[in-house]
Amino acid sequence: MKRILIVDDEESIRFLYKEELEEEGYIVECAQNGEEALEKLSIFKPDLISLDIKMPVMDGIEALKRIREKERQLPIILCSAYGEYKQDLTTWASDAYVVKCADLTAFKSIIRKLLGLS
Ligand SMILES: [Mg+2]
Repeated sequence: MKRILIVDDEESIRFLYKEELEEEGYIVECAQNGEEALEKLSIFKPDLISLDIKMPVMDGIEALKRIREKERQLPIILCSAYGEYKQDLTTWASDAYVVKCADLTAFKSIIRKLLGLS
C-alpha cells in the first residue's frame, strides 16, 4: 500500500484529504506545516507528498526545497487555493500543481499517475 503525507495548516483540509485518500486504500499521515513535514519524512517514509503553499512556521515553497535536497525522486504535489503560484518558477520543482477544490477527483487522478498506478 502506498503512503501519502498530507501537509496543510487547515485541519478541515487534512481531515477531508485523509478520509478520502484512505478510502482509496492509501496509508495517510498528516503534518500541519513544512517543519512538521520534514520531521515526518524520515519516520513515515511517504511515497508521495501533497504540500499546501500558505502555511505558518514553514511554507510549502520552503518545504519543497528542503524535501528536494533529501529526496530527489519523491513525487510532490503543490496545492493552493487560488492558483496564484502557478507561474512561480519555484513551483516547477514540484511534480504537479493543483488548485484546491472540494471535489478531489482531479487530485486523486494526479496521485495515481505520479504513483504509477494509472
Ligand atoms: Mg494554508
